[in-house]
Formats: sequence, structure tokens, C-alpha cells
Amino acid sequence: MAQLLLVEDDAAIRGALIRALTERGHAVSSTPTAMEALQLVLDSPPDLVILDLGLPDLDGYEALRMLRAISKVPVVVATARDDEADIVRVLDAGADDYLVKPFGVGQIEARVRAVLRRAAADEDRRSEPVVVGGLRLDGEAHEAALDGRRLDLSRREFDLLYYLAVRAGQVVTKRELLTQVWRMPYGGADKTVDVHVSWLRRKLGESAQQPRYLHTIRGVGMKLSAPS
Ligand code: CA
Repeated sequence: MAQLLLVEDDAAIRGALIRALTERGHAVSSTPTAMEALQLVLDSPPDLVILDLGLPDLDGYEALRMLRAISKVPVVVATARDDEADIVRVLDAGADDYLVKPFGVGQIEARVRAVLRRAAADEDRRSEPVVVGGLRLDGEAHEAALDGRRLDLSRREFDLLYYLAVRAGQVVTKRELLTQVWRMPYGGADKTVDVHVSWLRRKLGESAQQPRYLHTIRGVGMKLSAPS
């Protein structure tokens, strides 16, 4: 049974969702404010958060960013704003999926199940460290080291490096990276990937002109491989 935290200030919607999700076998706790939600995530970490973006105490994006700073818990955002730029912003801020209001309970339950399934699969994959040449990535601890030296990476840089390292030797397109690492299947610019790759290169002590691990495959994408 999954423990869900529902963050929703509309009492009627909150009540209906709690009933429906509980009937479908989930344990649901809830709060109407972002600040209390952050506290609850710290005090009793849920398996998944359903986050309404229109909350009384904090802007939804701000709430999402603060949540991401303290937790990797999967987040499904419920938003009334049906605008592609907004949805991209939400996904880029670290949401795992989103629903545009109004939505049916069957729909949200299906999203919740899919996100939980994905999170469980990620967990399995991350239990063994990934080693490519002198690069060692611990997916559980979110730690990366190169030739025994700890790398100081942001969450996104780690996720990008990890995604490429798991697929060492394979060419990965920028679209795939935007979809899988940034969770932006529809929006997003190649430049986003380029910028993060250049930061990663700097931290790995290499450059586009003299690559060691990160290779640009012109017109196709990226490839990570051990230096020969
Ligand atoms: Ca609301």
C-alpha cells in the first residue's frame, strides 16, 4: 500500500480525492498548505505527493522547488493552468507527471500508479553502483567520483551523467535526454542539454575539443564511454 500525501486547499476536491484514493487501496494524508506539506515530507516521508499548484500560502513552482530541495519523492502536479509553457516549467522544476484540472479520479489514480511503478523501477536500477572507466556513480547515495575523487554535481548533472553512464557506449539523442532526464517529452530545447553537458565536462576536467568520457555525436546526440 502506497502512502500518498495530497496537498490541496479546496476542501471539496480534497475530500473527494481522499475518498477515491483510499477506496483504491492507498493510504492518504493531506494538507491544504505548501508549508505544512514540506514539514510532512520531512517528518513522515510519503511514497508520492499530489501537489495542487494553486495553494494559498506559496506559489506552486516555489513549493515544488522547495520540495525538490529536500526530497526525491515522486510528485504528480495538479494544475488548473492548461498552458504548454507552464507544464514544461512544472516538469522542469522536478514534477514527475501532471494533470490538468478538472480530472477524474480514475485518471489521477492511473497517473499515481504509473509514477510509483517508474519510481520502483528506478530504485531497483540504482541499487548497484555504475562503473565506467574511472567513473563511479552510486545511484542510491547520488554520489559520483572520478578516479577516486568525489565530484560535486547538482541533481540534474548527476541524473544526466547517470543516464549516460548506464548506457555507456550507446548514442543517446538530446530528445531522449530531455524526455528521460528532464521529463520534458514535448518541450525543452537542445540547448538545455548542451549547457548541462558543458558544466559536466568542466567538472570531469575535459572539454568538447578534448573529450574523455563525454562525446558529442554531431547531429545525433551524446555518448559516454571510458577513455581508451
Ligand atoms: Ca487550489
